[in-house]
Amino acid sequence: MLSFDDDAAIAKMPGLGLSSGRGFMPASPASPASPASVIGGKAAKPSANGFRRIRIDDKRVINGDTDVNQLVPFKYKWAWEKYLSACANHWMPQEISMSRDIALWKDPNGLTEDERRLVTRNLGFFVTADSLAANNIVLGTYRHITAPECRQYLLRQAFEEAIHTHAYQYIVESLGLDEGEIFNAYQEIDSIRAKDEFLIPFINILTDPEFKTGTLENDQKLLRSLIVFACLMEGLFFYVGFAQILALGRQNKMTGAAEQYQYILRDESMHCNFGIDLINQIKMENPHLWTAEFREGIQDLVKQAVELEYRYAEDTMPRGVLGLNAPMFKEYLRYIANRRCQQIGVEQLFAGANNPFPWMSEMTDLKKERNFFETRVIEYQTGGALSWE
Ligand code: FE
Repeated sequence: MLSFDDDAAIAKMPGLGLSSGRGFMPASPASPASPASVIGGKAAKPSANGFRRIRIDDKRVINGDTDVNQLVPFKYKWAWEKYLSACANHWMPQEISMSRDIALWKDPNGLTEDERRLVTRNLGFFVTADSLAANNIVLGTYRHITAPECRQYLLRQAFEEAIHTHAYQYIVESLGLDEGEIFNAYQEIDSIRAKDEFLIPFINILTDPEFKTGTLENDQKLLRSLIVFACLMEGLFFYVGFAQILALGRQNKMTGAAEQYQYILRDESMHCNFGIDLINQIKMENPHLWTAEFREGIQDLVKQAVELEYRYAEDTMPRGVLGLNAPMFKEYLRYIANRRCQQIGVEQLFAGANNPFPWMSEMTDLKKERNFFETRVIEYQTGGALSWE
């Protein structure tokens, strides 16, 4: 246990930003502070102990040399605002009734075999995916991000990943599914394992205790891992699964699970948007990282991710189900991949790809689409397209 007399012990602890080399700013600034850019509008005067106050201009998203414990003065307001929005969207899995889902699941005629396979494979991916995401943040990304506003959002995001894991567990438990089967699917089901095997090397880079940013090679590794995490994991690998469960909900099936997924989709779309803002901020502050070769490498990863997610779509939907089929997801994944590329400034790969599920883009707005389960199917054909009114 530390006491206030243990300053020396604290200063030696990694990641606290209290050491003189990477924490408080030294008293002799390289450039004069703008008076408006310091806390309280006061100019950066050296204090008696030789340190001076943090200036906005000192803050950087990576390789920053300011005190990471000081949230203000705000520089990255977009991150702080996302933190506030995320807190305003707080929800918990137990708030959602699963009673209709339980009755439907127990009814031998409640769902088709294909629908049951879709649900169990879907949960098989998600029950471990958000733990991977949480570990990536807590054990990896957080250490390498030196902007306190971004760290503040990452803390909230890590808690949301825990809530999502809780939600999937709550669904598995409510339906009385085989927990061993569901929680081990990421080891035992090829289409799920292949997605995780694609992701894990990029997560491992960030969680390696020896990994440090500050060189061109390592800063590019960090940026590449952030792109994989935000644009391909949270921004692509989650979307077949979300669309499947939300499609069930739109047919008045598994409405409790669908409501949980709708809350999760809202959180995840903010995670993805935060990640994209983070990536673009790093690009802006470090333009030398964004080489043609680097961008080509990203395009290759996007192509691989689309293929892997398409294999997962085929595996979860060997036949048409709920008016959905795997080829529709090929178009959807290409559409999403184009959007992710465009959001981070990489050339799009799939010219002319359209969104076959326009209703998915409305799912993140819970107020507007609160009654989405009540929308009426006006055309239904197994394996074909649905349209809604
Ligand atoms: Fe997430």
